[in-house]
Amino acid sequence: MEKFTKFLLSENEMPRQWYNIMADMPNKPLPPLHPGTGKPVGPEDLAAVFPMELIKQEVSTERYIDIPEEVFDLYRTYRPSPLFRARNLEKALGTKSRIYYKYEGGNYSGSHKANTAIPQAYYNKMEGVRRITTETGAGQWGSAMSFACNHFGLELLVFMVRVSFDQKPGRKLMMNTYNARVVPSPSTMTAAGRKVLEADPDSPGSLGIAISEAMEVAVQDPYTKYALGSVLNHVILHQTIIGQEALIQMAKADDYPDVVLGCFGGGSNFSGIAFPFLRENLLNGKKTRLVTIEPASCPKLTKGKFMYDFGDQSGMTPLLPMYSLGHNFIPDKIHAGGLRYHGAGVLVSQLLKDGFVEAKAKFQRECFEGGVLFARTEGILPAPESTYAIAGALDEARRADIDGVSRSILFNLSGHGHFDISAYEKYFEGNLPDHEVTAEEVDRSIAQLNLPVF
Ligand SMILES: *Cc1c(COP(=O)(O)O)cnc(C)c1O
Repeated sequence: MEKFTKFLLSENEMPRQWYNIMADMPNKPLPPLHPGTGKPVGPEDLAAVFPMELIKQEVSTERYIDIPEEVFDLYRTYRPSPLFRARNLEKALGTKSRIYYKYEGGNYSGSHKANTAIPQAYYNKMEGVRRITTETGAGQWGSAMSFACNHFGLELLVFMVRVSFDQKPGRKLMMNTYNARVVPSPSTMTAAGRKVLEADPDSPGSLGIAISEAMEVAVQDPYTKYALGSVLNHVILHQTIIGQEALIQMAKADDYPDVVLGCFGGGSNFSGIAFPFLRENLLNGKKTRLVTIEPASCPKLTKGKFMYDFGDQSGMTPLLPMYSLGHNFIPDKIHAGGLRYHGAGVLVSQLLKDGFVEAKAKFQRECFEGGVLFARTEGILPAPESTYAIAGALDEARRADIDGVSRSILFNLSGHGHFDISAYEKYFEGNLPDHEVTAEEVDRSIAQLNLPVF
């Protein structure tokens, strides 16, 4: 095989459709429930919050959904994204395995979040929406949404998790540059925020709280809707552009992955790269392992319970059948802000329950160590979130070497860490604590809720 390290696609080779895993799941997920009636929610229940086209995608069972022309035009300003073979990392490890990564940090938002921000802003604009509210954890989603909204002529109000607002002022300024308004969450702007602040004036915030605030503002105005950056089926659908491209690129590399990995916050970047490969497993007899890596301090997939829970802190969303740590759980202030979410997307939850995907948890120090090795060998400074995928890939390569085999390993490098230099500084100073949530803490968090666990 020739020694290529970079696998590119031309615009003509770009996939024109997103892939919907719902079509091929052996067990379809349980329906979301209305918390008041206990009945499955219908499209009309969601209409105050989302535009109809996204609601249709949320419940669609069509295998492929066309990417609208206006979305495709913006996609092609930064897609297809490159797929690299990490030859220098392989050399440093002395591994026999082939390590590939799909780099999603090379766009304006610095992460995969642009892939769904663009269609979400587009569908809202098409349906006459004027303003969008949203949350952001580490700031990548807020940045992605800011540019997309500005492009389509929509206003944007972002509730940014307090700890990230303080840790990452650059992200806030970037959102302001793209014309968005950014408020630290919990805030005094909403009842949900005020309630949290009364109980704890120094609350670091959480994605769950920020979602409650953004939804509360959206439902009060018919021209305002809400957008979510992960978790939901339509978000995951948009992210499958990553795996659809990666399939073609792996063929160009004359290889096929034995294992595909992604870090895990709510499930969008992992699902985006993994679901097209899962389709090949389900329909075409391939046997690729699909592995998620989450923080030990926010271990919903490895220690959470499969249950009906709210997607936000104050209970404004429908009840979703998912792995959860409980919607009141406030994760430790780790630097991978995008992974500090109590729940997991419904699709990944069902697939994990049915044994089609695997889940692992890791401490942040080991992940930063992997991230630094990656930066020094491949030259890209990874987002703290993405270092979890790197650490997972390093495990796979080392295990293959112990087993005396060469494996093909593909991971999603979900974003760059240019706004996260202070986290790297803390790592180099030896100031990055490792924190693990215990099974008792999870039980206590869930027992408070009074919701059934399966
Ligand atoms: C938001 C984010 C994540 C986590 O969210 P998922 O929906 O699980 O992908 C991971 N990496 C980066 C760079 C992010 O911005």
